[in-house]
Amino acid sequence: MNGGRCSVSTVLQGIEAAAAEGVAVKVNMVVQKGKNENDILPMAQYFRKTGHILRFIEFMEVGNSNGWNLEQVVTKQEIKELIHNLMPLEPIEANYSGEVASRYRYQGSDDEIGIISSVSEPFCSSCNRARLAANGQLFTCLFATQGTDLMSLIRSESRNEIVRDKIAEIWNLRHVQYSEERFLKTDLRIVRRLKCIISGDDNAIIA
Ligand code: SF4
Repeated sequence: MNGGRCSVSTVLQGIEAAAAEGVAVKVNMVVQKGKNENDILPMAQYFRKTGHILRFIEFMEVGNSNGWNLEQVVTKQEIKELIHNLMPLEPIEANYSGEVASRYRYQGSDDEIGIISSVSEPFCSSCNRARLAANGQLFTCLFATQGTDLMSLIRSESRNEIVRDKIAEIWNLRHVQYSEERFLKTDLRIVRRLKCIISGDDNAIIA
């Protein structure tokens, strides 16, 4: 999915051009049921050959802008099983604490994929994704609508230690956990449905 802005071949050429310049490319695929779940295996097969790490991302809510619906989520478990049945996988350790993707490699090789389970296993408590916007606002969550100004502190030519301590203070006070809160607030019927989807019981009825 690229919003229809250019052809797939243009995207693939861009990936190879970046790799040729030494950029370590990771490719993200948001999987949306009814849209592109049939592309999971072709994508895995294609990027296994290129050596670029492919990361599948569960379709998640982005405010009210993407018409999110739980029924459109293909879970990490489903993605993993689909690939594993054709190309057996084994889990590998995270590169660092708080890494958002669960890592797997194809058995007998170092070829790797990742799966980001933002909906079925939200990981806000271990998230370490601070974001600094071009206007100097530091955001502590992808979905935060308010940031904290760092621009004035940086422009005051404060010592690096002072800026570092300020960032640490902001981070330690953060209470954003959008995905976990959404999971907890979700209607219990939907939670039950999600559990059925995860367990592979497609015949489960929402009661
Ligand atoms: S919702 Fe926010 S806190 Fe949770 S994982 Fe995403 S960016 Fe991190």
